[in-house]
Amino acid sequence: MTTAEFSFPVREAERKVLDRVAELAEGFRAAAAEYDERAEIAVGHLTALHDADVDRAVLPERVGGIGLSYAAFGHLVRVLAKADPSTATIWTMHAGAGVALAEFTADTLGGFFAEEFLAGKRFANALSEPASGNRFLNPQQDAVPVAGGWSLTGAKRFVSGCEIAEYLLVNARVDGAPAFFGVMPDETVSTIPIWDTLGLRATRSQLLSFDHTLLRAEYRGRAPGFGDFAVIPAGLPAISLGIADAALDALIEHARSRVILGKPLAHQQWVQYEVADVQTKLAAAHALYERALWEADHGVPSFFPNLSRAKYLANKIAVEVAQLGVRVGGASGYLKQSPIQRHLRDAEAGQLMAYSTEVIAGEIGRAVLGVAEDE
Ligand SMILES: Cc1cc2nc3c(=O)[nH]c(=O)nc-3n(C[C@H](O)[C@H](O)[C@H](O)COP(=O)(O)OP(=O)(O)OC[C@H]3O[C@@H](n4cnc5c(N)ncnc54)[C@H](O)[C@@H]3O)c2cc1C
Repeated sequence: MTTAEFSFPVREAERKVLDRVAELAEGFRAAAAEYDERAEIAVGHLTALHDADVDRAVLPERVGGIGLSYAAFGHLVRVLAKADPSTATIWTMHAGAGVALAEFTADTLGGFFAEEFLAGKRFANALSEPASGNRFLNPQQDAVPVAGGWSLTGAKRFVSGCEIAEYLLVNARVDGAPAFFGVMPDETVSTIPIWDTLGLRATRSQLLSFDHTLLRAEYRGRAPGFGDFAVIPAGLPAISLGIADAALDALIEHARSRVILGKPLAHQQWVQYEVADVQTKLAAAHALYERALWEADHGVPSFFPNLSRAKYLANKIAVEVAQLGVRVGGASGYLKQSPIQRHLRDAEAGQLMAYSTEVIAGEIGRAVLGVAEDE
């Protein structure tokens, strides 16, 4: 087993998981293009991650897990996303839903959802709605009171990995406020197969239809809180950074191996200048992300807005690096057999995932200019 050096403090239990993930990632990288082509969930990758104790690692200690630091978590998702961004996305969503349900119901159901998560059950986030746009934490669909809880009729869209999920984290409006539930999909939940996309094809983020689905009162959790481990906000920047790292590697490999008029492409000055520009911006995006993770680990309240900034920057630089890859790659990078075109398709998805770059830009711009949200 290889043991890597880390730029952040790592406990022994974390090191074991990170080393194992680095090994697994090599195999994931080799298979990623095929899963993408078939738009098929790499179930084996997810099982291997569970067997490597990755789920136990991400679950906070207070609900029975190892409790990765934010720094270790960010490292893990970047490594996964560089190798196979669809697997990284499904796992991040699965971890986000599983950890959230374990935390939100800790005082009511005890360890039920934590135990299911640790047992290898699959979780997914069914939060986005047709009418809520990017504001996925503000559901517009009302659940109505029925015996045993509330009933939901409506739709949730782009639910990564929903076809293999045994539990869904579902939100709905109850008495005018967002409420969160664990739902075991039954015959009232059906999949509408819309997922035939440009990028992140192997996430199979389908549309789910709910027809009088019972949101059980005992599976209702509290609302997200400041002290909860913020899996999705901390994971999304890492997905784009991993894609950007992979796109840069593919670009470098092509520029060094493609010989034009007797010299490698890497010797052309325009390539050097453009690579300098994207590599420097990418390094800055990694640095901002690492700062936000450090703040999160040290309880600095600015970690949340800085994670948003890191997502914004990571989403944009991933597209920039991948676009440069297409220019440097020429027509050979445009061929389906080249990883260059796949990195561009995957990079585009990062900025669509909530909160989108437009929504984040609005938040940052208002904060910088001192404009209140309702002004
Ligand atoms: C690969 C992938 C995986 C996903 N996985 C999941 C998942 O597992 N679970 C889940 O619940 N969701 C998931 N989503 C959904 C995602 O997080 C967004 O909520 C959803 O994509 C928003 O819908 P939309 O893309 O149709 O864009 P729309 O919301 O229709 O946005 C269209 C445009 O309007 C802008 N816009 C939207 N709302 C606002 C606003 N309030 N203010 C300003 N501008 C706005 C957007 O930035 C965009 O430019 C996933 C999406 C993708 C692409």
